[in-house]
Amino acid sequence: MGIPVWVQRTRTMSTEVVDEALPGQTSAAASGSLSSETLPADNKQPTPAHIGTLIPEQPVPDCSTLDSQALQTLVNDCKRCVLHSSRKQPIFATGSLSASYLVISDAPSFDEDRHSYALAGKAGVLLNNMLSAINLSTDNTCVTHTVKCRPPNDRMPQTDEQTACLVYLNRQIELLKPKAILILGRSAAEHLLQQKSSLSAFRSKQHTYADTDIPVIITYHPRNLLRQPADKRKAWEDLKQFRALIE
Ligand code: SF4
Repeated sequence: MGIPVWVQRTRTMSTEVVDEALPGQTSAAASGSLSSETLPADNKQPTPAHIGTLIPEQPVPDCSTLDSQALQTLVNDCKRCVLHSSRKQPIFATGSLSASYLVISDAPSFDEDRHSYALAGKAGVLLNNMLSAINLSTDNTCVTHTVKCRPPNDRMPQTDEQTACLVYLNRQIELLKPKAILILGRSAAEHLLQQKSSLSAFRSKQHTYADTDIPVIITYHPRNLLRQPADKRKAWEDLKQFRALIE
């Protein structure tokens, strides 16, 4: 009673049209103009030949004095890891660069890379619905990733790639000073909290980001909720915790 649940209206295989809606939304409204994007046939298949190798000549950039615009320019030109060769463009962030809340995912997807937009594709539409359910939008929220460039075939980012890119994320957080952070999925959580754990263990408590006192809630990645819709109810419990932090 009264609990928003992301309703699965239709589901076929990976080439389906997005159709994840909240109660009271039409599926067309939920999917929006990005809803007809498809995923590549080899989506999610790891490609060992591409697995993380840093570019050794690339020094760690000093981002400490950069504003958001200068930082984005640096990211646009970055070739510090092998992911620069598989991107169409880096995805610096989507939403407000003066947002109070930050959402961190693992890596841009095929759709995000294609549209240069972190809420693109089926998972992006679902994330948008999840945020809307707790009264967040791109007006007060910023969405970014642990790596700014899409891994080939949408494989998970490797540890060394995430480490190479962390300097940019940390500067984003310094500039944004978010009141709370929502991390999507175990991979991003393990890297950002520097601990190995199951997603259920991560979800069971509130965390803080690195050496700050910024509260962190961890929940399912929308990509996984699309595969396992039954977990949406548990994700809603996480979102309620996050909402409690920001109210
Ligand atoms: Fe640079 Fe990050 Fe892209 Fe790697 S993922 S090339 S470190 S911006």
